[in-house]
Amino acid sequence: MAYDDNNIFARILRGELPSHRVYEDDQTVAFMDVMPQATGHTLVLPKAPSRNLLDADPAVFASLLSTVQKVARAAKQAFNADGVVVSQFNEAAAGQTVYHLHVHIIPRFEGVPLKPHTGEMEKPEILAANAEKIRAALQG
Ligand code: AMP
Repeated sequence: MAYDDNNIFARILRGELPSHRVYEDDQTVAFMDVMPQATGHTLVLPKAPSRNLLDADPAVFASLLSTVQKVARAAKQAFNADGVVVSQFNEAAAGQTVYHLHVHIIPRFEGVPLKPHTGEMEKPEILAANAEKIRAALQG
């Protein structure tokens, strides 16, 4: 299937929709997931368009995974998490709901179950505060 230039993340990348950004470089962006499955749930995207991993240019993988590692470390530190899940879905049958390649970074805490995927919207002020904590950890 073709890439849709008007998917939500393409619009965020163009600055047409807001996001709580924690990181950006020439090739990648990271921002808070608005329906977090755990405190600090963050998404990392390549700026280059692709629906998902299956149609992506492998040239994006090095920068994408490098940003995933940076943000995963920072999120773990920022929330004093016990672990971090890194996940990525390809097409609807696999759970994908937004069709621009992205990687989920989900801090995990011993004994705390994950909330449902695309469940409840988090309050903007909490997302903003969590983004600030990750930005601070990225600088530390
Ligand atoms: P996936 O199901 O892997 O395609 O993940 C899409 C993710 O994007 C879900 O976890 C949603 O909660 C999240 N999401 C949807 N809309 C937005 C948005 N405007 N800003 C940030 N995250 C979003």
